[in-house]
Amino acid sequence: MNNITQRDTLPNTINIHSLTRCSYACGFCHSGFATAGCEKLPHRQFLEIVHQFAALPKLDGQARKITFAGGEPLLYCGIVDVIGFAKEQGLVTSLVTNGLHLTPGILARLTPILDWCAISVDSADTVTNRLIGRCTAKGTVLSKEDYIIRARTLREAKVHLKINTVVNRRNLLEDFTPFINAAYPERWKILQCSQMEGENDADFDRWAITPEEFDDFLNYHHEKLGKTDIALVPETQNDIRGTYAIVAPNGCFLDNSDGTCRYSRPIVEVGIETAFSDVRFSSERFRQRNGDYNFTTGKNRSRNN
Ligand code: SF4
Repeated sequence: MNNITQRDTLPNTINIHSLTRCSYACGFCHSGFATAGCEKLPHRQFLEIVHQFAALPKLDGQARKITFAGGEPLLYCGIVDVIGFAKEQGLVTSLVTNGLHLTPGILARLTPILDWCAISVDSADTVTNRLIGRCTAKGTVLSKEDYIIRARTLREAKVHLKINTVVNRRNLLEDFTPFINAAYPERWKILQCSQMEGENDADFDRWAITPEEFDDFLNYHHEKLGKTDIALVPETQNDIRGTYAIVAPNGCFLDNSDGTCRYSRPIVEVGIETAFSDVRFSSERFRQRNGDYNFTTGKNRSRNN
């Protein structure tokens, strides 16, 4: 039972997917927003939505957080300025990126205005990444060392680091322990590859794993990583549905609570809270998946490698 309820109060964090385009073509991707009917959030709408979110009162005294995602958000022209605007408005800023575009120049502009950065890493092995589609059309792929350099740069700049991994048929048996120890994120989000109607269901069987296989992956890595200050954050397909406040590239909230994609009225037309009341969302399950963790305080960590 999903226990999805109608609610009219936004949680303290939203994920804003500003465009559908990505440099990669992962076979199980459900962030292409094929159902949204719009490839890119117009710049003025983008700023207006950020502003409306920032103007809401704090919930339980906790700062509000905005996560910039895609597609690949670093392909959105002007994204650094939008993140800077969010920071100026008092929001905690977060980025989810495939890592490819985290060049030294972009990192130098991003790190002063970014509180959290999540790099999605579905394998430390270039062969597996190519099998997944986690490479460009020309075959460019990041190596394990490339990811570790980016992780280290972010840590040294005091940006809180997350690694996101989608567990699927291709990486199910991979031992991530050496990579995770080297990248040393504060949070390792481990997601079960999940199906979304109209987005990735055409050949989902190629990627799907069972709940038992997901548990095996988790148990293996809990044991191998042992005592660590890296937080392992698992999310099953059921955990993901109806527990994220997602703004799609069409400027509407996405309702994915039953595995399909439905959209609210446009935020800039009806206001952010009214638009959110159109979607089904479970605040209880949002809290259960630790969606409201205290993202303003990171651990004071001393490792410099
Ligand atoms: S990197 Fe992310 S957004 Fe891009 S294709 Fe892969 S899963 Fe989709």
